[in-house]
Amino acid sequence: MATRTETGAAIGGNGFASGERLAVVNPADGSKITEIPVDGPERVHEVTARVRASQPAWEALGNKGRARWLGRLRDWLLDNQDRIAETMQRESGKVWAEASAEVPYVADLTNFYGSKAEKFIGEQRVAAHSPLMKTKRLRVQYRPYPLVGVISPWNFPLILSLGDAIPALQAGAAVVIKPSEVTPLALGEIVEAWKREIGGPDVLDVVNGAGETGSALVDEADFIQFTGSDRTAKKVLARAAETLTPVSAELGGKDPMIVLRSADLERAVNAAAWGSFANAGQVCISVERLYVEEPIYDEFVARLTDEVRKLNQGIDDGSYGKDVGAMTFPPQTEIVESHIAEARERGAKVLTGGERIDGDGDWYPPTVLTDVDHSMRVMREESFGPIVGVMKVGDAEEAIRLANDSRYGLSASVFGRTREAEAVARRLEAGTVNVNDVLVGFLASDVPMGGWKDSGIGWRHADYGIKKFVRPESLVITRLGRKREPLYFPYTEQRRKLLRKAANFVNARDWRRRLGRAPR
Ligand code: NAD
Repeated sequence: MATRTETGAAIGGNGFASGERLAVVNPADGSKITEIPVDGPERVHEVTARVRASQPAWEALGNKGRARWLGRLRDWLLDNQDRIAETMQRESGKVWAEASAEVPYVADLTNFYGSKAEKFIGEQRVAAHSPLMKTKRLRVQYRPYPLVGVISPWNFPLILSLGDAIPALQAGAAVVIKPSEVTPLALGEIVEAWKREIGGPDVLDVVNGAGETGSALVDEADFIQFTGSDRTAKKVLARAAETLTPVSAELGGKDPMIVLRSADLERAVNAAAWGSFANAGQVCISVERLYVEEPIYDEFVARLTDEVRKLNQGIDDGSYGKDVGAMTFPPQTEIVESHIAEARERGAKVLTGGERIDGDGDWYPPTVLTDVDHSMRVMREESFGPIVGVMKVGDAEEAIRLANDSRYGLSASVFGRTREAEAVARRLEAGTVNVNDVLVGFLASDVPMGGWKDSGIGWRHADYGIKKFVRPESLVITRLGRKREPLYFPYTEQRRKLLRKAANFVNARDWRRRLGRAPR
């Protein structure tokens, strides 16, 4: 299905043009929530030029001053989290537990970068390693890219937009976000509050639309933070190449989970159910492939199937009564269906789920597949929905080989006796590996999070998550200079020989060479 413009033309992902309005739909029942204007290139230029003009004053506030403003945004978010979660629930079809989990992440991240910014991007005093440079004072100051453009997907409308905008703002950049055209509303309310209720400096704004709007933002920004599919990332990178604009790209995954025979089975089953079906499987770090050691395979599959059948699917009203929500983006359901159809044709068994749920809105039940292998799309391509394929493996070596047999490398998890599981984890090709847990790597903002292989270029969290938004400006400061340094013109034999002696003395690591004697 495609979202519809006011003109009635059904158009997909990249189709919105400036001057049109895009309809935001509640995927839980298919009803239209509202329409918003599409921002074309001219409007994107206007907005970016305006916030760019305010950026120098924002940068001049320093880390502490900016942290104070972002702290006010955090307070507003904490005070209004239910209202924001309600809006997000309507536009995304998430269950309440998940819609209301985004503000706490953003608040934590605001505190993290507020308190660590000085350490991560504060001015550095550096001592020269070479005695020949000892007369210089070396300093590095970190200056932001003035305008950061954030392009985000629909699965976590705040975490994957504000989650990057906050460190960029903390770094001193002005930020314009292009949220997903599917879920622009909750973020829009927050940015409106930043402007009107909080009265924040004019360094944060949004532009709405799809591909055309995103491309226009790529043309205007000094740095692009992109989260989405690798397919779109290639277009963004190609466009950014035209203006030599750096891009950090957080992309898709096909995360494996390995269950060793030494695992605590109950914990592994509970974790596999949550890791595969949280947010209806629409998480870049969802567990999409399970590799279970042969001795525990049958019991694991039986218990997982039981657990998954008990999941409560639907939309709750703030009561936390539901586990699994709707599919947020209708075309994603078609991808899920096609993966399951192909797997079935090739002999996979569906133990639970496996058929779209009829009725209003867009619903797909949690689905467990067995008898799958790596010739099937369901084990090779990102499904990004509520399906998981389970494979039996002979030993840990086979599990490692299969887990690494993927073009993706976003994250992974391993269950087993800690030491054993950790040894396996260290050999996996992924940006983050959880040992005896799933998904939580994303919440450990102290360590970098990013993808290997086709899962991305660039990192968020830790120092990486803020350093990417700044450029080092190295200051090499001469305190006491002569009128003419030995390096300057004119080159004379006497001065050059003196320099050579000094350089040999400093660079050699034995006394003969230091003193200019021939080696023995
Ligand atoms: P998408 O690639 O279709 O769209 C992402 C964003 O790019 C949207 O805002 C979209 O409007 C915009 N866009 C589309 N065409 C563009 C263009 N030509 N120029 C600039 N912008 C353009 O992705 P999606 O369907 O919104 O999200 C799902 C994908 O995101 C999945 O692959 C998922 O794994 C990935 N994802 C990755 C992470 C991560 O942190 N690694 C997190 C969440 C989602």
